Amino acid sequence: MTDVAVGGMKSAWQVALQQYDRAADKLNLGPAVREVLRYPKREVTVHFPVQLDDGSSRVFTGYRVWHNLARGPAKGGMRFHPESDLDEIRALAMLMTWKCGVVGIPYGGAKGGVDVDPRLLSRNELEHLTRRFASEIAILIGPERDIPAPDLGTDAQIMAWIMDTISMHSGHSVTASVTGKPVDVGGSEGRQEAAGRGVTYLSLEALKYLHIEDETPTVAVQGFGKVGASTARLLTEAGLRVVAVSDSRGGVYNSKGLDLEALLEHRQVRGGVSGFKKAEDVNNEELLALPVTVLLPAASENQITQANADRVQARLVTEAANAAVTPEADRVLHDRGVVLVPDILANAGGVIASYFEWVQDLQAFFWEEEEVNTKLHHIITRAFYDVLHTSVNKRVDMRTAAYVIAVQRVANATTVRGIYP
Ligand code: NAD
Repeated sequence: MTDVAVGGMKSAWQVALQQYDRAADKLNLGPAVREVLRYPKREVTVHFPVQLDDGSSRVFTGYRVWHNLARGPAKGGMRFHPESDLDEIRALAMLMTWKCGVVGIPYGGAKGGVDVDPRLLSRNELEHLTRRFASEIAILIGPERDIPAPDLGTDAQIMAWIMDTISMHSGHSVTASVTGKPVDVGGSEGRQEAAGRGVTYLSLEALKYLHIEDETPTVAVQGFGKVGASTARLLTEAGLRVVAVSDSRGGVYNSKGLDLEALLEHRQVRGGVSGFKKAEDVNNEELLALPVTVLLPAASENQITQANADRVQARLVTEAANAAVTPEADRVLHDRGVVLVPDILANAGGVIASYFEWVQDLQAFFWEEEEVNTKLHHIITRAFYDVLHTSVNKRVDMRTAAYVIAVQRVANATTVRGIYP
């Protein structure tokens, strides 16, 4: 594990350690447990061949990392992304440990991925790749050990293929081995939109805290994918005005508000949001600097940095994408009075609903969507106020407060299990 910055940019793992160290300092953690939490418990790298449609074959590389399992089995997304590497997956596994800790659900943190651009594969190739990868890491996966979920570049279908592969290895259906599956094979009602629903609940709660609920708050969403699109719709339903959205090809802006249904149709035809007639095109840098009430980075890591944080005009940033805001940008936003709801709290709706899905699969007893949403609202709102109170009492920003709560819970579990003094 390198601690050396490449080309002046901190690696994802360095950033994760920096966030952790800040919380460990605040908590005055003992040296033994402090060191244990600085390392992932297990890292698996696999290289596996996949036969392509033209008869040739190609070797792909995949990873699965467990960070800390003191509070329960490993839980975390599986991403198919061309820039996935071990450093990033390791950082995201640690983030999952804190995410489960801060919202108080009984899991440890994990993450996995394959270094691949899924858009370049046919459906047949994607299924072969998924099944082969699942076989390679099958020794790790299972309801009591490690439960993957969708992430960047993966979806419910891919989860169904993983579940089916694990079930074939076991000789019976093991529906609780993955979450984010289709409802037809043991998925949960409400899971698909849960991350966006959590982002929505917390954005509304934070606006209440900021006492700006009487205006019509405006919203810009960077990343119009699973999380960004559902959050945009839910916030519109809640009475906010979504004025800008973007995807990897560019964005669109209309200060009077976007017609999201028409925009989704446009994207269906054009493959992206750019060129939408009822709005002007903006690039991603311009979108981040728009005069809006709420900014939702819902795309990928390192989008708000020291270089652009001083241009953010929003009063609230809800960090829907993992690690979208760098530690340096955190400081700039905090100094400028911009409230940040940090990733481990903001997007925890996905893992909370995954927890519900796992519980339902284990009990073979399924809930109505309303029950899922009500329980999600309860857990994530309680966590928000835990973080807010810690932030006020300890006079730290919301990210540090979230980390302080999460790290303390994981350190307690690690220590009380008696493994480390
Ligand atoms: P997704 O693949 O469905 O959507 C990502 C979107 O971001 C796409 O529209 C893509 O075009 C866009 N994008 C990529 N790079 C961009 C850039 N530089 N500028 C603007 N747009 C860009 O992924 P998702 O599931 O919505 O995940 C988004 C983020 O939320 C990720 O960080 C993921 O880890 C996190 N997250 C997702 C879930 C979930 O349940 N899906 C849960 C928790 C956290």
